[in-house]
Parts: sequence; structure tokens; C-alpha cells
Amino acid sequence: MATSGGAGERPVIRKAKAAPTRTGRVRQARRIYRELEEVYPYAHPELDFENPFQLLVATVLSAQTTDLRVNQTTPALFAKYPTPEDLAAANPEDVEELIRPTGFFRAKTKSIMGLAKALTENFGGEVPGTLKDMVTLPGVGRKTANVVLGNAFGVPGITVDTHFQRLVRRWKWTEQTDPDKIEQEVGSLFPKKDWTMLSHLVIFHGRRICHARKPACGACPIAPLCPSYGEGELDPVKAEKLLKYEKAGLPGQRLKPPSDFPGPPAPPLEGR
Ligand code: SF4
Repeated sequence: MATSGGAGERPVIRKAKAAPTRTGRVRQARRIYRELEEVYPYAHPELDFENPFQLLVATVLSAQTTDLRVNQTTPALFAKYPTPEDLAAANPEDVEELIRPTGFFRAKTKSIMGLAKALTENFGGEVPGTLKDMVTLPGVGRKTANVVLGNAFGVPGITVDTHFQRLVRRWKWTEQTDPDKIEQEVGSLFPKKDWTMLSHLVIFHGRRICHARKPACGACPIAPLCPSYGEGELDPVKAEKLLKYEKAGLPGQRLKPPSDFPGPPAPPLEGR
């Protein structure tokens, strides 16, 4: 571990170097993965869902908003429209009203009703379990398809969202900026079976500690492995205050978190 400092002193963490060779990069990436597993043994998708249809709709609704806000909104939507057939036949104004808290509710209503119609007409009312079929659905790209495949079908997939892009570049796993190329390059550093958990671990870390504007480097458990250590707040006390969700003793984003989640469940939307 790249630390030094005597008893009573704050440990000095030296910035890890980017690995120069491919073998070095694989080794460094897998060490970070193992450390993140220790930090977030309970990492999971942060959208509440009970079946592939619900996860697909929730993922579409999560654009430009938080998973928390989606989780607070979907119980009423799925209670009223439990199947693609029900949603495809809905009155759009009723759907708009139900999903209004997620923002962009008119466009999102069109998207999820279009999806429900395509599922009903082309796939017998079931979400298809392959990437090839899933990306034929209106508004579904690789990112959404991988979320659903990884979490509702057990097919390994990498979710290249904004957190994932930022963190893998900070760790020098890739210099690519195109999400498809990031997916390919980062995927090649890990066994395929780890891809879905890798996505959860990286996104958890991005949401709780390695923030976009002010990463909490001084409170980051993987600091000794990170080539970008020092990009954020180094003072341990100030860094601690930047932590979010369960790392700050607060609820996570799910109203129904998995049983091993160490924080309290998120609260329902006020007035619902
Ligand atoms: S918080 Fe800082 S040390 Fe930790 S992973 Fe992010 S940039 Fe690296």
C-alpha cells in the first residue's frame, strides 16, 4: 500500500501511477475491483423492480433524474399498469400525471407507452432477453439494454453511465470517450462474469465518494490504488462530509433495498 507516516501522523498517500502495460492495467483494475467489493459488499442496482418490464420502464424514466425519484414514482405506475398491454392501452394524460415527478414527463410518457406497444406487438408482451432484440425497442440503446440484461436476466453487461465514464478515466483504465468503446476496453480487463457487478461497484463509488466536481479523496478507501488521488478534497474531516447515502449514515435510493443493505430504506414521495 503506497502509504507512510509515523504514529499519530496523518498517513501520506502517494498517487498511484497509471499502469504502463496491459498486464499492469489488468492487475491494477482487478485490485480496485476487489477493494470496491470490500467497500460495497452489498452493491446492487438502485432501481426498485420486480420483473424485467418494470426494470425496463424504470431505466427509461431514470434519464435526467435520480433513481430515488424514479423509485418514489413507479409504485403507483406499476399498480395501475402492471403489464405492457395495460400500459400500451393507457390514457397518455393519466400516465403523464403519474410520472410527472421524474421530469420530462410528456416525452417519457411517449417513450414508455411506445415501448409497451412494441413489447405487446412484437414480443408477445414479454421483454426479450437478448441485446439484439432489446435494442430494436424504441428508445432502448446498449446502456438501457445492458442494465436490464444484467439485472433481470443474469446476462453479464457493463453499464456505461456518467459515473462509470468518469471513474474509469480517473483510474486510467481507458482514454476513450465513446461509451461503446469504453464498454469494450474496460470489458476486456475483466472476466465477463464480473461485468454486471463491476458496473454496480463503480457506480456506487461514483455516487457516494468519487463525485464529479469534488471527489472525497481524503475519505476514499481505494486512494492508495488511484492514479487521480488528489483531484478532490484531501482533508479527511472535510472529505468525510462529502460522503453520500449509507456512507453518510443516510438512506440509499431504494424504497425496497436488498436485505444486506446497511442503510435505511428511502422514504416514499410525500403525498403518495
Ligand atoms: S475519490 Fe479520489 S482517490 Fe478515490 S477514486 Fe476518486 S479520485 Fe481516486
